[in-house]
Amino acid sequence: MADAPHRVVVVGGGFGGLQATLKLAKLPVEVTLVDRRNFHLFQPLAYQVATGALSPAEICYPLRRIFRRKRNVRVVLGDVDDIDLAAKRIGLQPVSEADTPDHLDYDTLIVSGGSHYSYFGHDEWQEHAAELKSLEGALTLRRRILTAFEAAELDVHPEHRREQLTFVVVGAGPTGVEMAGQIAEIAHDMQGDFRSFDPAETRIVLVEALDRVLTGFPPSLSAKAKRSLESLGVTVRLNESVVDVEERSVTVERAGGERERIPTRTVIWAAGVVASSLAPLLADRSGAETDKAQRVTVEPDMTLPGHPEVIAIGDMVSVRQKDGEVVVFPGVAPVAMQQGRHAARVVGDRLQGREAKPFHYVDKGNLATIGRARAVADIKGLRLSGFIAWWTWLGVHLFYLIGFQNRVLVLIRWAFSFLSHGRGARLIAHEETG
Ligand SMILES: Cc1cc2nc3c(=O)[nH]c(=O)nc-3n(C[C@H](O)[C@H](O)[C@H](O)COP(=O)(O)OP(=O)(O)OC[C@H]3O[C@@H](n4cnc5c(N)ncnc54)[C@H](O)[C@@H]3O)c2cc1C
Repeated sequence: MADAPHRVVVVGGGFGGLQATLKLAKLPVEVTLVDRRNFHLFQPLAYQVATGALSPAEICYPLRRIFRRKRNVRVVLGDVDDIDLAAKRIGLQPVSEADTPDHLDYDTLIVSGGSHYSYFGHDEWQEHAAELKSLEGALTLRRRILTAFEAAELDVHPEHRREQLTFVVVGAGPTGVEMAGQIAEIAHDMQGDFRSFDPAETRIVLVEALDRVLTGFPPSLSAKAKRSLESLGVTVRLNESVVDVEERSVTVERAGGERERIPTRTVIWAAGVVASSLAPLLADRSGAETDKAQRVTVEPDMTLPGHPEVIAIGDMVSVRQKDGEVVVFPGVAPVAMQQGRHAARVVGDRLQGREAKPFHYVDKGNLATIGRARAVADIKGLRLSGFIAWWTWLGVHLFYLIGFQNRVLVLIRWAFSFLSHGRGARLIAHEETG
């Protein structure tokens, strides 16, 4: 009788899990990909959904469709809530009416659960400060941003209208910068659409606790990005920390301890992240370390200490190097994708009786967009800004977007909105879907 195929369970159909599964599909293994969503979300363009530039379906792709022709890959919709390392089994909770199996057994487990925004211990702020990590978050933001403009049209009280037209973005990393720039552009694109106010009155405040925007970039590009934001009308407030978020205001504190309350109805949260709850779960079950962002520390080859059959990748891990130093790679898609492909190689090497190699990250550069024809790029020391950087950003994002149809649709949308200043998905959807 032929040997039973090696069973690999991959948790997470995001950037890391997707790449691992695509590569594993070429090996003589049986793969089960589990996600609590039935689609892959292209997070780098989530802000365009939040600002009505793109529709949800253009940045999401059904996982089942991606693996339609890969007969050794099965996709399971379910929420992983337990990992039993001794029994080599994960526990599942249903996310729909479906008859989800309550567990799955594995020979190798690959976990890529990602991360989510942290509210610095103030989870109560989340109600008023929506984030962009999920499709639901992006749609909530779209509804809030567009509703604020509608409310400003109807509100006769000047102070209330000012409150409606004030948008506070917390965190000046790539997502915060993109959101601030896009809201400035929405206001610009809406010129002439309202009767009782001028969208040019819109006030966008970008709050950052550190001393510059885009701290992952060289200071010269941070300075250019800040100037670019200001030329779009964004007020950039550096060295200020958010100390309170309420329904109608955000309170910031300057370095000297002085506080200011900014009246606003729309707060966008783009500050620090913490790892998926699957990271502390793995740490708890294996005795591995976690860091202050809850990431679990894995071995140089990305395996869990003491459990070579478990590989953890992407935003939820830090990696111990051979010399003992623990490295946190940037929380970006290329890191997760390379680690996903590495995880599949580890499985392939083991099946061939070869030892797994350590993971090496190939840094291809850093890109951030600010608005139409405005971006910054740091590609292996080559520093670009403005139109060239923006074209590079467009090309890279189209290239990595999943699905040929999505690429064509997004290209057409971008071309159309660039020429017409229109936004095809400027819709207020009351159900937090589509
Ligand atoms: C708004 C935003 C913008 C970004 N922009 C960029 C950018 O421009 N460039 C860039 O390189 N990076 C960007 N990033 C970062 C990038 O998206 C992440 O680094 C990358 O997604 C990490 O991949 P991952 O596989 O670790 O996690 P993810 O891609 O987040 O995937 C995690 C998957 O696991 C699933 N999952 C989690 N927990 C469970 C569970 N318990 N059970 C079942 N399924 C589960 C989730 O549904 C999800 O599908 C951005 C991130 C955000 C939030």
